[in-house]
Amino acid sequence: MQMLDIMPRVAAGEVALLQRLRQLVEVESPSDDKAAVDRANDLVSAWTQPLGATIKRHRQRAYGDILELRFGASKNPRSKRPRILLLGHLDTVWPLGTLAKMPWKEADGKIYGPGVLDMKFGVVSALEAIRVLTELDALRPVTLLLNSDEEVGSEVSRPITEKLARQCAAVFVLEPAQGLAYKTARKGVGQFDLRVTGVAAHSGVDFAAGHSAVLELARLLEKIASFTDLRVGRTVNPGVFGGGTRSNVIADHAWAEVDVRIAKASDAAKVERLFRALKCEDKHCKLKIIGGLNRPPMERSAGTARLYKQARAIAHDLGFALDEAATGGGSDGNFTAALGVPTLDGLGAVGEGAHAAHEHIVVEHLVPRTALLAGLIAGL
Ligand SMILES: [Zn+2]
Repeated sequence: MQMLDIMPRVAAGEVALLQRLRQLVEVESPSDDKAAVDRANDLVSAWTQPLGATIKRHRQRAYGDILELRFGASKNPRSKRPRILLLGHLDTVWPLGTLAKMPWKEADGKIYGPGVLDMKFGVVSALEAIRVLTELDALRPVTLLLNSDEEVGSEVSRPITEKLARQCAAVFVLEPAQGLAYKTARKGVGQFDLRVTGVAAHSGVDFAAGHSAVLELARLLEKIASFTDLRVGRTVNPGVFGGGTRSNVIADHAWAEVDVRIAKASDAAKVERLFRALKCEDKHCKLKIIGGLNRPPMERSAGTARLYKQARAIAHDLGFALDEAATGGGSDGNFTAALGVPTLDGLGAVGEGAHAAHEHIVVEHLVPRTALLAGLIAGL
């Protein structure tokens, strides 16, 4: 079998694929609404039955269930190949009711809609790739994991993702592409929250008795900003802060939320050390730090580079160039890469505006990207 066999079948399925995509987009599924995400689960589960999937629903209380779908129990020679993991999520950042303002819309070769790029196309595309390979009797063992909490940090799905990744030879993440490129590196992500406690006093009557938490926080933020080191890919951003009650009161509290990104896993310990070593200059103020790094970086390992080279060769056969890119954003691929399992990311849609009102995918790429994914799964 060659890419030449895959492409026409994917192309022939384009209309059906778009119908499914529309159906899935129109089942709104915000991370914080279990019932809504479960409806998306039901829809996808129904689609996978004709494909002979073994369906396991990891039941959740706070979030939608997590869907583990296994394929590829057949007699073809590829069924002997090591299992691979396709990683996706069914939750979106869009609250229920978004469709009314941001409906499914096709215009100028683009399709708009909540979650269409991040990442409902990725899910539908993976199912289509599996369908075509099943038809060609060329499917290898595949686990498709669709979680329900990716947009809120993957707290409950992380252990499941990690367990399944360990059973697999490679992980393909169905997140959107970076421009036209696959993602071979992602930064690690953390959040550190600073809470400063000072001593309140009347700024006119009793100034000397006060110790300002706001002032202390300002000093700390200056210090924290100096932790950024672009040469090693470390950025530190105090994105939100606040404190105090009124201008004539010396503030007894102040806080800040700081986003941290690191390119190298070896940088994690240093970042933790830098934050833990922070101290107030004013001895009457106290500092508490909450949080830390929650996604390790996905480094461009030899295994990831090998997967990318395979993908590039398949894309070449399909008639297009495939670049690779690094991004500062995290995904569930960060977890699997950190385990040492070769991970390639960005295999989903080409488009723009994830988490933004102009979220869309570009139609001309849907078929080639799906064919490329099928080729990668088959291991051509
Ligand atoms: Zn996503």
